[in-house]
Amino acid sequence: MSAGIIDGKAVAASVRAALKDEVAAFTAETGIQPGLATVLVGGDPASEVYVANKRRSSVVAGMADLHQHLPEDASQADVESLLRALAADPAVSGILLQLPVPAQLDAVSLIELIPFEKDVDGLTTMSVGLLAQNKAGLRPCTPSGVIELLDASGVTIEGANVVVIGRSELVGRPVAQLLVNRNATVTIAHSRTRDLPAVCREADIIVAAAGVKGLVTADYIKQGATVIDVGIHRGEEGLSGDVAYAEVAEVAGLITPVPGGVGPMTIAMLLQNTLRAAQLQYELGGSAAS
Ligand code: NAP
Repeated sequence: MSAGIIDGKAVAASVRAALKDEVAAFTAETGIQPGLATVLVGGDPASEVYVANKRRSSVVAGMADLHQHLPEDASQADVESLLRALAADPAVSGILLQLPVPAQLDAVSLIELIPFEKDVDGLTTMSVGLLAQNKAGLRPCTPSGVIELLDASGVTIEGANVVVIGRSELVGRPVAQLLVNRNATVTIAHSRTRDLPAVCREADIIVAAAGVKGLVTADYIKQGATVIDVGIHRGEEGLSGDVAYAEVAEVAGLITPVPGGVGPMTIAMLLQNTLRAAQLQYELGGSAAS
């Protein structure tokens, strides 16, 4: 048997197309154009590429590009004062502090300056708490992308046995929480988990987010299971994931490729969060204005 391929590029393109229409409708109805303030400190080349993609995509979706760039030697006070200004600016729907920041800065305390209704990365303590309590709020982008891929592929989450490999704040924990909120039975595995292959063989759905190239092999997979590979590894042969794709595809029912699986979903979900942020602020009493 050969697994069906979950095409993340196609799902992301359809999310973005639908979003463009939703943004236009929201702007027509309220007079508010959602605006995304990406904040880049310094000139890390990879971060510059990521931020440029986010800015370009937000403009294509009909949003305002409110990018801010601070120099490499910016002080904690400089970044704090910029984030406070963006938090207070009604034209700014979403704030994204691009990570990592230069070594002299304390990223954790900077992130906490982003108000929950503008926290399009979903990383503040407030957003994490809202997710844990299953209350309305903005969810981290890559984990939301995983859920969107499962839904778009017709995979039943409710009642499913899911194993999430990884417990990071960025991916493992929030994706597990999103799955619990959707009534899955979730096991969170990590580096101290005993007999990981046996744990994974119980799963109807595996979400691999360990950051270990090729960790998940065919003997981890129950026949017909769905395998979502969040891992990204750059090698001489190009990008690959946490899943040994060729052998796992022989046993799984559905599988995401790397590249072209989870990766393209992250920006699509960031754009969706920016619109949700604008809607949330509008509902909270029109703190956003055109
Ligand atoms: P991370 O912070 O390094 O966390 C890795 C997690 O995996 C930890 O909880 C760790 O356990 C666990 N782990 C490590 N080795 C393991 C093993 N051998 N068996 C079981 N669990 C193991 O990484 P992350 O930020 O969550 O990212 C994970 C991967 O996703 C990376 O490859 C990253 O590049 C990729 N990623 C992709 C996207 C995307 O857009 N597609 C976005 C974000 C991240 P302990 O807690 O016990 O240490």
